[in-house]
Amino acid sequence: MSMGFIVITALLLALIVYVAIGLAVGRKTKGVADLLPLTADRQAKVKNPAEFSTSTVATTISLATVIMAFFELAQYLGLWLLWTVITTAAGLFVVRLFADRIWIRISAYDHRPTLHEFLGREFNSQVLLHVGAVCTSLGFLGAFAVELMVGSRFFAGLIPYISAPIVVAALCIVSFFYTAVGGFRAVIITDRVQMISIWMLLACLPIFYIYYVLTHGGWNENLAKMPPGILDFSYSKEVLSFLVGIFVINVPTFISDMSIWQRIAGAQKHRTVTAGLGRSAFSAAVTWAVLALLACFVFMIVPLSPGTNSLVSLLKTIGSTGGFFSSAVLFITVLGLYGAMLSTASTQLIAVSHTLYADVFLRPGKGALQQHLESKRELGISRAILVFTALVSTILVQLLSSIGFSIADLVFAIYGAQLGLCPLVLLALLWDRPRLKNLSIAATVAVSSGFVAGWAAAIYGRLTRNTDLVFLSPVISLVLSVFILGLGVVCDKIRRTLAENVNWILIKSVIKARREGFYHFIPQTKSTRLVCLKDRCARCCRVIGTPVVTPQEAEFIGPSSLMRDKNAMFVKSDSGACTLLKNGLCSIYPHRPKGCREYPWYNIDGRLYCDSGCPGVKYDKDERPDIADIQPFDNFFPHTPKLVVWLIKKICIRNLGRFV
Ligand code: SF4
Ligand code: SF4
Repeated sequence: MSMGFIVITALLLALIVYVAIGLAVGRKTKGVADLLPLTADRQAKVKNPAEFSTSTVATTISLATVIMAFFELAQYLGLWLLWTVITTAAGLFVVRLFADRIWIRISAYDHRPTLHEFLGREFNSQVLLHVGAVCTSLGFLGAFAVELMVGSRFFAGLIPYISAPIVVAALCIVSFFYTAVGGFRAVIITDRVQMISIWMLLACLPIFYIYYVLTHGGWNENLAKMPPGILDFSYSKEVLSFLVGIFVINVPTFISDMSIWQRIAGAQKHRTVTAGLGRSAFSAAVTWAVLALLACFVFMIVPLSPGTNSLVSLLKTIGSTGGFFSSAVLFITVLGLYGAMLSTASTQLIAVSHTLYADVFLRPGKGALQQHLESKRELGISRAILVFTALVSTILVQLLSSIGFSIADLVFAIYGAQLGLCPLVLLALLWDRPRLKNLSIAATVAVSSGFVAGWAAAIYGRLTRNTDLVFLSPVISLVLSVFILGLGVVCDKIRRTLAENVNWILIKSVIKARREGFYHFIPQTKSTRLVCLKDRCARCCRVIGTPVVTPQEAEFIGPSSLMRDKNAMFVKSDSGACTLLKNGLCSIYPHRPKGCREYPWYNIDGRLYCDSGCPGVKYDKDERPDIADIQPFDNFFPHTPKLVVWLIKKICIRNLGRFV
């Protein structure tokens, strides 16, 4: 059998199986709830932990970003590729750690929210919902188109006499069709088919490696063909940036991945999610590890060839080996690879169409979701969204390719856009709604900035041929998002601290006093005395007439003349004027509060000051009070954070020069 015949047959079989699954599921699709996981009890569901696990692992294994990438990177990274295995398993484990919280949170809704609806509701921000939906949609659309492009190029590498556009068209039509007809349930079933074909591939290829080595000179001879550095963990600067970059991409990404979120939304039981995620982490680790080892050891069979992916070279070698065994290995491998490609493409398509339908089209105000679940019209709309967005993504990638974006560039830009959601998801799971509500602006700005910065870094890096910048675009997106959200958290903490602890009566009194020329403190180092103008003035009582009183002073003054705020008591005032001032005189003069007696002298950090706003201050004679008799300035601001009191002192002392 010729190689072309085997490859085309395997591809056609994959296409036929997936279309058949789409049609079979589509026959039972009565409404939009059967197409998308909008509720827990319809066709669009994940039935059990095994289904959850295989489907989740399938979302992580794409032809473009994993299999082809492994075989391309193995020559540079060698066994360091296993780091991707560890970080991917860790990323899924992070989701498992939060699985209980996610389940509890989404169970509080009357339907299954999308990731963005969840964020929008928890942070109480419609803008955040829409910004998040756009970020996810663009990311998945880009990834979808990349998957198709890589698939067609891969095919062109094997069968050069069939043009790539024809292959792209065939792959697009099939993936649009079966996803639009069968929806989420078809994707879950094809994910299982994908994983079965991947595991067959992973079983066949090692057998072929062993067979090839034993029939071509034995282990020593073939291991000697391996390029240096592949089988050891040698360190270099490039390796370090790879390790950091992959860690940042893989570990936090799954918690903010709409396709993982969809599978959680599609589960009917809590255990399906928790057990499924636990198995996913283990299964992904095993699958990715075998793939990484196959990519490293491929150089026993094919030589390093610049510009050619070693997987293509490997398949050509298998095809040229001849015999039934090699033909079977080639058939199974191509079937597995295209199964991975189609299933990944459909996962991305269904994630985008779910996002756009639920978060953009079915926006609040258009009626309760329940009204739309049975509607044939809504079903048609959601299918149309799916096909339309897929077409747009294909055009988008063609445009980006025309300005020089490579596949790797796109992948990093895509991840860069989505990672900005990660800190928000974690915060939404850890905090309650009232606290999150205060962060709605910061959250929206964080996601938008992370998205723009991720794409901008990738585009600028590409245009200036700075590949480091392209590679770092996800890190930039994540760091910026974390920074802005962190800033929001700090500002909110300060705001709440001020609201809970700062006595605003006093702060307002200080502001008013400053405006009226009071609270301008002069250090008293020279002869000074007070000649009070009493009822001819009484400005202190009219402007800063909100004196703090001690419990003993309060007993005499009586509750009707007092007000309380945050454990402090004051004499009631009317726009800063003390209500105990009658006809220009203090009505409780012999028992007035200590602060009133001390005015205009202040003890600020052990140093004597005088308020320059008092017109009775004279400099002809030294009658300054003893500093020990004046209460510390801080006493006027009970239960106020030290930082705020410090700030007031600085402000009130700062402009001294103008008044001396
Ligand atoms: S502002 Fe000064 S002068 Fe005027 S009443 Fe008060 S203490 Fe006396
Ligand atoms: S208690 Fe008497 S001295 Fe103090 S502010 Fe009021 S009126 Fe003035």
